Amino acid sequence: MNAYDIAIIGSGPGGYVTAIRAAQLGFKTTLIEKYPTLGGTCLNVGCIPSKALLDSSEHYHQAQKNFSIHGILYKDLSLDFKQLIARKDQVVKQTCDGMKYLMDKNKINVHYGWGTFKDKNHISIYGRDKSVEEIEFRYAIIATGSKPSSLPGLDIDKKRIISSTEALALAEVPKRLIVIGGGVIGLEISSVYNRLGSEVVVVEFMNRLIPIMDHTLSKESQKILKKSGIQFHLSTRVTGVKMQDAEVIVKTETQEGKNIQLTGDYCLVAVGRKPFTEGLGLEKLGIEKDAKGFVLVNANMQTSVENVYAIGDVIGGIMLAHKAEEEGLCVVERLVGQKPHIDYNLIPSVVYTWPEVAGVGKTETQLQEKCISYKTGQFPMRALGRARASGDMDGLVKILADEKTDEILGVHMIGARAADMIMEAVTVMEFRASAEDITRISHPHPTFSEAIREAALSATSNRPLHI
Ligand code: FAD
Repeated sequence: MNAYDIAIIGSGPGGYVTAIRAAQLGFKTTLIEKYPTLGGTCLNVGCIPSKALLDSSEHYHQAQKNFSIHGILYKDLSLDFKQLIARKDQVVKQTCDGMKYLMDKNKINVHYGWGTFKDKNHISIYGRDKSVEEIEFRYAIIATGSKPSSLPGLDIDKKRIISSTEALALAEVPKRLIVIGGGVIGLEISSVYNRLGSEVVVVEFMNRLIPIMDHTLSKESQKILKKSGIQFHLSTRVTGVKMQDAEVIVKTETQEGKNIQLTGDYCLVAVGRKPFTEGLGLEKLGIEKDAKGFVLVNANMQTSVENVYAIGDVIGGIMLAHKAEEEGLCVVERLVGQKPHIDYNLIPSVVYTWPEVAGVGKTETQLQEKCISYKTGQFPMRALGRARASGDMDGLVKILADEKTDEILGVHMIGARAADMIMEAVTVMEFRASAEDITRISHPHPTFSEAIREAALSATSNRPLHI
């Protein structure tokens, strides 16, 4: 029987990054994955394929709508949707193949099969070829991730009523797409198909989009996405979804009690994700879960069984690849006596619409709820030379700083390249910078990052330079 120091179940960004770090630290490590490819949700049906489709569709949109402004003229632009999907598949394949290389390089033994705890030192692995293998471990890390959730009574048939997984691999561009859920995944996929020519309608229960982010970003992104052609029904509840002939009928009710019926070719259900723990054998070990099914852990990511840890989507919190990675690194580094820490407040969130939306730290509402006195500085992208040069004028940067100490408490932005720009905010906040600190850092000109300095100038002394 193979015996390991650390056995990790699940090869998503939580699992595979943890495996690499564990191997670097000298642990004999194995990674167990039930699918034939490594990389989990993120690489196979999440972050990477969605970004590939977002990039391709944005190129198409730019060619269609904006090239002529730059003086670029062409005849007969058309879309080869099959090629667009094939390219996405190729990107996914290359990225997943890279995982295999990394596992080999770090001498991590990969077991392909369904991992089930036998007891607190053994896992049985059921292979697709019906083989059963048993391994022994000293420590185990559960990194089994999540799967799409649905609404009560709503059956995702995976054909016309689909989850994000199917939406990333459609055979055609829907003529009419109804999206239930105006969160990150709903908006990213809405953007893809809106750019490719679908008529997209988003239904959201809350009164704003991307409710996890600062309200200014919700408002701005709704304004921009509406201008691009996406229709929104906010404060609206879905009361039923059914197939009628080849059409999907979505019945909704507004907060005021008005019933609206929507008809589409496809309906994407993007109402969140739930923990995946099926067939893991947690009950056998007495590993506790919360009411929603997330594995319960303490501050060390330790489950109710001492030598079994859990990380990533399966333990809840913000469901992001980089959050899963941080947690895994923390577990194995603490096992060797290192003292890493995770500041969950500084885990940035990004929505890859165009323009991109990104935020870190506290939102304005959170500060108000905590009765923290703050000051705000805001700067519009359109006042930047760089924005005018590229034509990406939409968006803004908003900085929230402590009223007395000037410490930056939150940075929220929407604009071109916000996904990358947010790292300046994360870095300075990690070092507990003040808004004034940002104003004294030289920012290259002309760049979008100048908006961060301008927003900081606004926040700290109300003296922006370019407005
Ligand atoms: P997962 O990536 O879900 O991996 C879990 C793995 O465990 C899977 O491979 C599964 O097959 C395996 N597994 C489960 N049970 C067993 C078992 N019993 N035996 C063996 N193997 C098992 N996050 C971002 O940070 N940025 C983004 O841009 C982003 N975009 C997204 C877009 C979409 C459409 C979706 C759906 C998600 C996106 N996410 C994004 C979220 C991100 O994918 C997840 O937060 C991340 O994958 C969680 O990592 P994980 O390691 O916890 O689990």
